Amino acid sequence: MTKQNELYDIVINGGRVMDPESGLDAVRNVGVKDGQIAIITEEALDGNETIDAAGHVVAPGFIDGHSHSANDAFGVKKGILDGRTTQMDLEAGAWPVDVWYDRLEGRAQANYGASVGHLPIRDVVFSDITTTTGNLFLEMWKSKSQWSVHQASPEELEQILELIEQGIRQGGLGVGTPIGYATSGLTAYEVNQAWRLAGKHGLFATVHGRFSSLSLPTEGILGTLEAIASANMHGAGILVHHYQAQVLSAVEDVARMVDQARESGVKVLLEMYPYTFGSSVMMADYLHPENYQNNMGHTYGDITLVKTMQPLTKETYEEEVKKEPGATILFEHCTEKDMVKAMAWPSVCLGSDAVPYIDGEGSKDAEGGMTVPYGCPDDEAHGHPRNAGTYAKVFRYVREQKVMPLMTAVAKSSYLLCKFMEECGVPQMAAKGRMQVGADADITIFDSDTITDNSTRENGSLASSGIPHVIVNGVPVVKDSKIVEGVYPGKPIRRPVTEV
Ligand SMILES: [Zn+2]
Repeated sequence: MTKQNELYDIVINGGRVMDPESGLDAVRNVGVKDGQIAIITEEALDGNETIDAAGHVVAPGFIDGHSHSANDAFGVKKGILDGRTTQMDLEAGAWPVDVWYDRLEGRAQANYGASVGHLPIRDVVFSDITTTTGNLFLEMWKSKSQWSVHQASPEELEQILELIEQGIRQGGLGVGTPIGYATSGLTAYEVNQAWRLAGKHGLFATVHGRFSSLSLPTEGILGTLEAIASANMHGAGILVHHYQAQVLSAVEDVARMVDQARESGVKVLLEMYPYTFGSSVMMADYLHPENYQNNMGHTYGDITLVKTMQPLTKETYEEEVKKEPGATILFEHCTEKDMVKAMAWPSVCLGSDAVPYIDGEGSKDAEGGMTVPYGCPDDEAHGHPRNAGTYAKVFRYVREQKVMPLMTAVAKSSYLLCKFMEECGVPQMAAKGRMQVGADADITIFDSDTITDNSTRENGSLASSGIPHVIVNGVPVVKDSKIVEGVYPGKPIRRPVTEV
């Protein structure tokens, strides 16, 4: 029996198959069997289930290394509808790592993973805070432990490093240190020693840079350089999250510098999301007026409180930051022109930075996560449009503004982060980000003529469209543009567990 006569689980017929690694860009039929891509051919194939992909792109499932919604079912659903088959929180990270992974076992619609959360570990060392979700980063804004401003004593630093290493032994994917949230608590030495552990285990660190600014002495580029140097000196890779929000108009200089560093063998990857405003919490260091206004040239009115969708004033800022330091806000950062430059730079990958949606009451989902329930109506779920629209928006820019070739956008959505993670101690990623025989069948099928984001500043949860089929490990999770409820094919992206 020839391979062509085999019966596949799913056959995807007549789509434009795009593989960023090999450069394949041609009309092919794809056979999926046992969760993997079993054949890519011009011959006709038989399958139990057939998807007609004529006129559509058949791409590797999109890989999001920056989702704080990775263990929030509603957020994951919105990500899947945006084509994201793997959703990981590499920036904030998990703590405890095993709790985070255990919570998702058998109930994840997309593949999931997380780094070891350095800031949550600080909170644990400085206080008696606990969590049932492993999403401690999202729960600790109300903590009184001073995790963001307290400088660790030598004994405390020892404990922090001990727990980071424990997280690595529990399968954490790297060390996530969003320095930008703790600029007056985290010394360069503490960061350096934390990342030494990433290097020791052959892994990578991730950073939200120390500075978000155009001007000396707190230039965003310096925060980026701190991160690259600190990781590289210990042999760790470094993923720089949403770099456009830190370096602003220096996006091209920094991207050029990073390309040069890669040529010298430095393992570094820049990431961006395609918006000129971010989402954060009221108490974030970089939004303190002294920082935000002096460094980024914005005022109180450029910060919007999400629960009311009203811009702040000096008075409301001062009142709210005391009352609810963890309140979700939107804030302006770079210009549209700089955002597009960062988006189009070939070696910069995408990451949504999805933050869990909230409703007016700040209610929690069934498992106590800080977000809305899975079935929440869109008009009741508030949050940044990037949560739902990041990937489709980039493909809309490819179509409308011809900012880059389609293949470049496919690579940014999938392959670039895979390659980086493979280089940095996560061999599992070698089977992702590719339309190749033997790769995991994580597949996103979209129409390059219609794919678009629909989420807006006013309604951040409207799902993307033009992505009729999404497959995770060989199982359809989006069919005919609708989410398939009750299927959980997502698998953990995790390092070997050597400590339980
Ligand atoms: Zn961040």
